[in-house]
Amino acid sequence: MTESNSTSIGQHCLIIGAGHAGTQFAFGLRREGWLGRITLLSEEPCLPYHRPPLSKDYLKGATSAESLLLKSPESYQQADILFLKDSKVVRIDPSKKEIRLADDSLSYDHLVIATGGRNRPLPVKGAELEGIHDLRFLSDADQIQSTYQNSRKAVIIGGGYVGLEIAASLSMSGIDVSLIERETRVMARVASQELSTFFFELHTDHDVQILTGTEVTEILGDTHVKGVRVDQGQVIDCDMVVYGIGAEPCIELALDANIKCDNGIIVDENLQTNISGIHAIGDCTAFVDNRQVTRLRLESVQNANDQARHLAKAMCGKASPYAAVPWFWSDQYNVKLQIAGLTGTSESTVRRTGETDQSFSIWHFRGDEFIAVEAINDPKSYMIGLKLLEIRKSPSPDEIADPSFDLRALIRRP
Ligand code: FAD
Repeated sequence: MTESNSTSIGQHCLIIGAGHAGTQFAFGLRREGWLGRITLLSEEPCLPYHRPPLSKDYLKGATSAESLLLKSPESYQQADILFLKDSKVVRIDPSKKEIRLADDSLSYDHLVIATGGRNRPLPVKGAELEGIHDLRFLSDADQIQSTYQNSRKAVIIGGGYVGLEIAASLSMSGIDVSLIERETRVMARVASQELSTFFFELHTDHDVQILTGTEVTEILGDTHVKGVRVDQGQVIDCDMVVYGIGAEPCIELALDANIKCDNGIIVDENLQTNISGIHAIGDCTAFVDNRQVTRLRLESVQNANDQARHLAKAMCGKASPYAAVPWFWSDQYNVKLQIAGLTGTSESTVRRTGETDQSFSIWHFRGDEFIAVEAINDPKSYMIGLKLLEIRKSPSPDEIADPSFDLRALIRRP
């Protein structure tokens, strides 16, 4: 037993939110040797599950709810983690080191906030009609599935990852799909122009009609949705709508407890908030990445898991500043997109041909510095790009553009 672990005896670590971050943290903390109590609270009515498949295989009916579980039902007891479902925290009282549920209160020694994000509501007339959905929880995916089984025509509002993945899943399930995007290209906020064009064409090839530079002004119908009116006045008939127009962090509990927030709960390099003994991890946090100048809030499983692992180590006396390289993926039809790094500050790009007709990668540079790679059906380029970012090595644009150049040599180069 290490000295730091022995100090956890008799301590109670309480975690609010059992998504990827909260659940990974609970198990990580035990694995790192925490000897005190661990309680994991979820407002949801079920065991913690993987969220990404909700818009992909699960929506298509290609996988079961059981296969989505993050941990087996028995593993909570085995790791001595008290998991409480249907337990929405309504207040944090830092002065008493206590949280309140609807009809109970629990005290803590250490509190970890992992409340994730919520979908932005659709701000148009008619948004409350039947047949209109958004997707975040397992129960949302179940509802969309039961709606589309009786639908012919769907309109998807929002051309980010989630909207495009839903469009692909519904289209592959035989539904006629139109997608409406306000920006001039799909994935405008998160991907390069070249990738946007690739995904636009991919969806069009699968008979999904995409309208970019178009805004929804009203949803039509009496009780059930019948159509969507867009800003050019045109009406697109449909019998269901799914919207995915971005997410915002769940920070109300933190704000109410005087924890500093700015588009997320502000945490330092050890994921500590401004209140001692209260940490935050996952989609709800705003942190300073040591490669970026500005504060970041990421919505990704990588960030949730890496922050969780990092904090578990730190609380067991193995602290080091958080410095993980962000990575992300998306599956649409038979295409796998993998991104390592962040493209937001990209100044120039180089395209590299992949090993098959269907694969390529886009490498991003800020000045001479390599900052991100977007890989289409090209796991090798993605893996090498990720490694280069981790060891902070920049290939030259000429090396990237030359398909005969062995990228692995870059990793070995002193
Ligand atoms: P969440 O997973 O959002 O979990 C937070 C949990 O806290 C929720 O269960 C919430 O109900 C609970 N909670 C909130 N407030 C309270 C409260 N007051 N009391 C108790 N519980 C509370 N990321 C990828 O990297 N790749 C993908 O392909 C991908 N696909 C996605 C597809 C969909 C449809 C969605 C919605 C997201 C996808 N993401 C993907 C994003 C990814 O799921 C999130 O980044 C990840 O789930 C973040 O984990 P988290 O634990 O921080 O938050």
